[in-house]
Amino acid sequence: MARLRLATTWLGGCSGCHMSFLDLDEWLLELAARADLVYSPVIDVKVFPQDVDVTLIEGAIANEDHEHHVRLIRARSRVIVSFGDCAVTGNVTACRNSLASKEEVLRRSYVELATINAGLPAEPGILPALVDRVRPVHQVVPVEFYLPGCPPPAERIRAVLEALLDGRQPHLEGQDIKFG
Ligand code: SF4
Repeated sequence: MARLRLATTWLGGCSGCHMSFLDLDEWLLELAARADLVYSPVIDVKVFPQDVDVTLIEGAIANEDHEHHVRLIRARSRVIVSFGDCAVTGNVTACRNSLASKEEVLRRSYVELATINAGLPAEPGILPALVDRVRPVHQVVPVEFYLPGCPPPAERIRAVLEALLDGRQPHLEGQDIKFG
Protein backbone atom coordinates (compact mmCIF):
# COMPACT_ATOMS: atom_id res chain seq x y z
CA MET A 1 0.00 0.00 0.00
CA ALA A 2 1.32 3.49 -0.87
CA ARG A 3 2.53 5.51 2.05
CA LEU A 4 0.56 8.65 2.90
CA ARG A 5 2.44 11.90 2.37
CA LEU A 6 1.42 13.90 5.45
CA ALA A 7 2.13 17.54 6.31
CA THR A 8 1.25 19.72 9.27
CA THR A 9 1.66 23.46 9.67
CA TRP A 10 0.66 26.24 12.01
CA LEU A 11 -0.48 29.71 11.10
CA GLY A 12 -2.07 32.06 13.66
CA GLY A 13 -2.22 29.64 16.59
CA CYS A 14 -0.49 28.87 19.86
CA SER A 15 1.01 25.46 18.87
CA GLY A 16 -1.32 23.73 21.34
CA CYS A 17 -2.90 21.68 18.54
CA HIS A 18 0.55 20.36 17.62
CA MET A 19 1.19 19.57 21.29
CA SER A 20 -1.97 17.46 21.16
CA PHE A 21 -0.64 15.80 17.98
CA LEU A 22 2.50 14.85 19.93
CA ASP A 23 0.20 13.46 22.66
CA LEU A 24 -0.53 10.63 20.22
CA ASP A 25 2.53 9.11 21.94
CA GLU A 26 3.24 5.54 20.85
CA TRP A 27 0.59 5.71 18.09
CA LEU A 28 3.03 8.06 16.33
CA LEU A 29 5.15 4.95 15.69
CA GLU A 30 2.18 3.30 13.94
CA LEU A 31 1.65 6.51 11.97
CA ALA A 32 5.33 6.56 11.00
CA ALA A 33 4.97 3.01 9.70
CA ARG A 34 2.24 4.09 7.26
CA ALA A 35 2.98 7.74 6.46
CA ASP A 36 5.87 10.03 5.63
CA LEU A 37 5.86 13.38 7.42
CA VAL A 38 7.02 15.60 4.57
CA TYR A 39 6.55 19.05 6.16
CA SER A 40 5.88 20.12 9.74
CA PRO A 41 7.08 22.43 12.52
CA VAL A 42 8.45 19.29 14.18
CA ILE A 43 10.84 18.54 11.29
CA ASP A 44 13.36 20.74 9.49
CA VAL A 45 11.91 21.19 6.00
CA LYS A 46 11.85 24.79 4.78
CA VAL A 47 9.71 24.62 1.62
CA PHE A 48 6.24 23.13 1.44
CA PRO A 49 6.61 20.18 -0.98
CA GLN A 50 4.56 19.17 -4.01
CA ASP A 51 2.17 16.26 -4.07
CA VAL A 52 1.06 16.10 -0.42
CA ASP A 53 -1.84 13.77 0.39
CA VAL A 54 -3.07 15.30 3.67
CA THR A 55 -2.20 18.58 5.41
CA LEU A 56 -3.32 19.47 8.93
CA ILE A 57 -3.49 23.26 9.30
CA GLU A 58 -3.43 24.70 12.82
CA GLY A 59 -4.34 28.33 13.34
CA ALA A 60 -6.23 31.09 11.60
CA ILE A 61 -5.21 33.48 8.84
CA ALA A 62 -3.88 36.56 10.64
CA ASN A 63 -1.30 38.05 8.29
CA GLU A 64 -0.25 38.16 4.65
CA ASP A 65 2.38 35.44 5.12
CA HIS A 66 -0.39 33.10 6.32
CA GLU A 67 -2.49 33.92 3.24
CA HIS A 68 0.39 33.17 0.90
CA HIS A 69 1.31 29.96 2.73
CA VAL A 70 -2.24 28.60 2.85
CA ARG A 71 -2.74 29.18 -0.89
CA LEU A 72 0.51 27.34 -1.60
CA ILE A 73 -0.62 24.48 0.66
CA ARG A 74 -3.97 24.33 -1.14
CA ALA A 75 -2.24 24.09 -4.52
CA ARG A 76 -0.01 21.24 -3.31
CA SER A 77 -2.37 19.21 -1.05
CA ARG A 78 -5.11 16.78 -2.02
CA VAL A 79 -6.82 17.00 1.39
CA ILE A 80 -6.72 19.84 3.91
CA VAL A 81 -7.91 19.34 7.47
CA SER A 82 -8.74 22.47 9.49
CA PHE A 83 -6.94 21.42 12.65
CA GLY A 84 -8.33 22.93 15.86
CA ASP A 85 -10.74 25.71 16.70
CA CYS A 86 -8.52 28.57 15.51
CA ALA A 87 -8.41 27.03 12.04
CA VAL A 88 -12.11 26.09 12.12
CA THR A 89 -13.63 29.31 13.51
CA GLY A 90 -10.86 31.84 14.20
CA ASN A 91 -11.28 31.21 17.95
CA VAL A 92 -8.65 32.91 20.14
CA THR A 93 -6.71 34.32 17.19
CA ALA A 94 -9.83 36.14 15.99
CA CYS A 95 -10.42 37.89 19.34
CA ARG A 96 -8.55 40.85 17.86
CA ASN A 97 -11.35 41.28 15.31
CA SER A 98 -13.17 43.30 17.98
CA LEU A 99 -10.67 46.06 17.24
CA ALA A 100 -11.46 48.13 14.18
CA SER A 101 -8.27 47.71 12.17
CA LYS A 102 -4.80 46.21 12.07
CA GLU A 103 -3.40 49.63 13.00
CA GLU A 104 -5.49 49.59 16.17
CA VAL A 105 -4.28 46.05 16.96
CA LEU A 106 -0.67 47.20 16.73
CA ARG A 107 -1.30 50.36 18.76
CA ARG A 108 -3.10 48.41 21.48
CA SER A 109 -0.38 45.75 21.65
CA TYR A 110 2.78 47.82 21.40
CA VAL A 111 1.75 51.19 22.85
CA GLU A 112 -1.31 51.08 25.11
CA LEU A 113 -0.47 47.82 26.90
CA ALA A 114 3.30 48.25 26.92
CA THR A 115 4.95 48.53 30.31
CA ILE A 116 8.39 49.41 28.89
CA ASN A 117 9.61 50.80 25.55
CA ALA A 118 6.16 51.68 24.24
CA GLY A 119 6.24 52.23 20.48
CA LEU A 120 5.38 50.58 17.21
CA PRO A 121 8.06 48.28 15.75
CA ALA A 122 9.94 50.49 13.31
CA GLU A 123 12.32 48.04 11.61
CA PRO A 124 11.04 47.31 8.06
CA GLY A 125 9.87 43.71 7.72
CA ILE A 126 10.27 42.92 11.42
CA LEU A 127 6.57 42.01 11.62
CA PRO A 128 4.57 40.20 8.94
CA ALA A 129 1.92 42.51 7.51
CA LEU A 130 -1.30 41.93 9.44
CA VAL A 131 -4.60 41.50 7.64
CA ASP A 132 -7.46 43.64 8.90
CA ARG A 133 -9.61 40.71 9.98
CA VAL A 134 -8.52 37.26 11.15
CA ARG A 135 -10.29 34.53 9.18
CA PRO A 136 -10.68 30.77 9.59
CA VAL A 137 -8.90 28.70 6.96
CA HIS A 138 -12.02 27.84 4.91
CA GLN A 139 -12.71 31.54 4.30
CA VAL A 140 -9.45 31.74 2.34
CA VAL A 141 -9.16 28.32 0.68
CA PRO A 142 -11.52 25.32 0.49
CA VAL A 143 -10.94 22.61 3.12
CA GLU A 144 -12.12 19.01 3.08
CA PHE A 145 -12.45 18.25 6.80
CA TYR A 146 -12.84 20.03 10.13
CA LEU A 147 -11.19 18.78 13.31
CA PRO A 148 -12.46 21.01 16.13
CA GLY A 149 -11.26 21.36 19.69
CA CYS A 150 -8.98 23.73 21.58
CA PRO A 151 -6.93 21.71 21.21
CA PRO A 152 -8.53 18.66 19.60
CA PRO A 153 -7.89 15.67 21.89
CA ALA A 154 -5.29 13.19 20.64
CA GLU A 155 -7.94 10.44 20.22
CA ARG A 156 -9.90 12.67 17.85
CA ILE A 157 -6.78 13.44 15.81
CA ARG A 158 -6.06 9.72 15.65
CA ALA A 159 -9.62 8.90 14.54
CA VAL A 160 -9.33 11.33 11.62
CA LEU A 161 -5.86 10.18 10.60
CA GLU A 162 -6.79 6.49 10.84
CA ALA A 163 -9.78 7.05 8.57
CA LEU A 164 -7.66 8.91 6.03
CA LEU A 165 -4.91 6.28 6.18
CA ASP A 166 -7.54 3.62 5.48
CA GLY A 167 -9.03 5.62 2.60
CA ARG A 168 -12.24 6.25 4.54
CA GLN A 169 -14.05 9.55 5.05
CA PRO A 170 -13.83 10.89 8.61
CA HIS A 171 -16.98 12.68 9.71
CA LEU A 172 -18.17 14.48 12.79
CA GLU A 173 -21.13 13.28 14.78
CA GLY A 174 -22.18 14.65 18.14
CA GLN A 175 -19.08 15.55 20.12
CA ASP A 176 -16.81 12.99 18.53
CA ILE A 177 -15.54 11.60 15.27
CA LYS A 178 -17.32 8.52 14.00
CA PHE A 179 -16.07 6.40 11.17
CA GLY A 180 -18.01 6.65 7.92
FE1 SF4 B 1 -4.06 26.99 20.47
FE2 SF4 B 1 -6.60 26.25 20.88
FE3 SF4 B 1 -5.97 27.66 18.73
FE4 SF4 B 1 -5.17 25.12 18.89
S1 SF4 B 1 -7.30 25.83 18.76
S2 SF4 B 1 -3.95 26.89 18.21
S3 SF4 B 1 -4.80 24.94 21.12
S4 SF4 B 1 -5.79 28.35 20.87
